[in-house]
Amino acid sequence: MSAHSFDAQGQHCPFIPVFGAPQVMFERGLGTELWDTDGKRYLDFLGGLAVTALGHSNPVIAAAICEQASTLMHVSNLFANPVATEAAQMVNALLHECTGAVGQTFFCNSGAEANEAALKLARKFGGRGRHAVVSAYGSFHGRTLAALAATGQPAKHEPFFPMPDGFRHVAFGDIDALRGAIDPTVGAVLIESVQGEGGVVPAPVGYLRAIRDLCDERGMLMMIDEVQTGFARTGRWFGFQHHEVVPDVVTMAKAMGNGFPVGAMWARVEVASAFQPGDHGSTYSGTAIATAAVRAVINEMRRIDAPALSASKGAYLATKLAAVPGVVDVRGQGLLLAAELGAGVDAKAVYTELLKRGVVTNAVTATAIRFAPPITVSHAEIDEVVAVMTAVLA
Ligand SMILES: *Cc1c(COP(=O)(O)O)cnc(C)c1O
Repeated sequence: MSAHSFDAQGQHCPFIPVFGAPQVMFERGLGTELWDTDGKRYLDFLGGLAVTALGHSNPVIAAAICEQASTLMHVSNLFANPVATEAAQMVNALLHECTGAVGQTFFCNSGAEANEAALKLARKFGGRGRHAVVSAYGSFHGRTLAALAATGQPAKHEPFFPMPDGFRHVAFGDIDALRGAIDPTVGAVLIESVQGEGGVVPAPVGYLRAIRDLCDERGMLMMIDEVQTGFARTGRWFGFQHHEVVPDVVTMAKAMGNGFPVGAMWARVEVASAFQPGDHGSTYSGTAIATAAVRAVINEMRRIDAPALSASKGAYLATKLAAVPGVVDVRGQGLLLAAELGAGVDAKAVYTELLKRGVVTNAVTATAIRFAPPITVSHAEIDEVVAVMTAVLA
C-alpha cells in the first residue's frame, strides 16, 4: 500500500502532520538502491538527507549494531560503558587530526540536540550577560526551540513567537555585517561551512578565516555546525577543513550513525570544561547501541578513505551534472551538490519527475536540486542518474 493510497482510502493518518504528504513508501535499501512497497527500484541520490553516507543496509554497520544489540544496548549515564568511551576517543582523535586541538565529546541523538548543547555551552562559557549568539540568515540549525532561534529563517520562527532571547542573524558571507552585530553580550558565532538546507551554499573563501580572527579578537567562541557537512560529505572529514580554521566547538549528527540516530558536540577542552556535572545531559547520551554505530562508521570511513572517495565521486558527479543541458550552475563541495536550473524552472516539478523515473533527490530551493548520494556510490550509478536528469530536463 503506498502512502498515497493510504490517504486516498480515507484512512486516518497516524502521524501528526508536520511533514508534507509523502509520495513514496520505501521498504528496503541496499547501497545506493531503494525499493518501494510496489517493488519499484530507485537510486537514492539524497541519502536520507545526507545521512546514509556508507549506503543503505551497509553490512559492516548493520553487523556492528546487531552485535551490540545482543550484547548491551544501554546502561544510563550513572555508569560507564566501553563502547561510548572508545567512540568518544575516536571522535576526539579524528577532530585532533583535523584541528590539532585537544577536545572532548558529548553524545546526543540528533543535530538539533548537538546544537542545543553548543548553545548552552556557549552561555556557560560566556557567563551571565554574555549569552547572545550570532548566526547567519539562510542557516539551518534544527527544530528545537533554541536551535530554531539560531536558524536564520524568520518564517520558521513566526508561528512560535516569542522566540528565546539572545539570537541575532546576519547575511551569510558578509564579515562586516557580522562585525557590526557584535557587542559585549555576544559570546559565540554559530555557522555552517556549507549552508545545506539553505540551498547548498558554500561559505565564501576567507569568510570562516575572518570569523576565526574576529572571534579571537573579541574572545568569542567559533562554533561550526557540521551536522550536514561532517563525516566526509564535502570531500574532507569536516567542511571547516576547506577553510583551514580551528573551531572551538563542532556539532555533528546525520552521517555519524549512517541512519542510526546519533549526534555529538565536540569542544576544545578549555571550552568544554565550562560544563560541570549537572549542567547538561540526556538519557541516551553515549548509549552503547548508538555509539557502536558511531564506532563502526568512523572505522569504515577510515578504511575506505571516505573523504577521498567523496572528493573524487563528487568531482565526477559535478562535472557530469554541469554538462546536462538545462543545468545552469553546479555548486557545493564533494558529494553535497546542488544543480541550479535557473529562473523559471520549477525544481519541485523536476524533483517529482525524477522520483517517478526512480531517482531520489530533493528540491533544496525553488530552482535547485540537491544531491547527497552515499559516498559509496558508483560511477555507473552516477551515469544512470545523470542520464535520467538529462531526459527530465529535455
Ligand atoms: C539537519 C541539520 C540539523 C538538524 O539535525 P536534526 O538531526 O534534524 O535535528 C542541524 N544543522 C544542520 C546544518 C543540518 O543540516
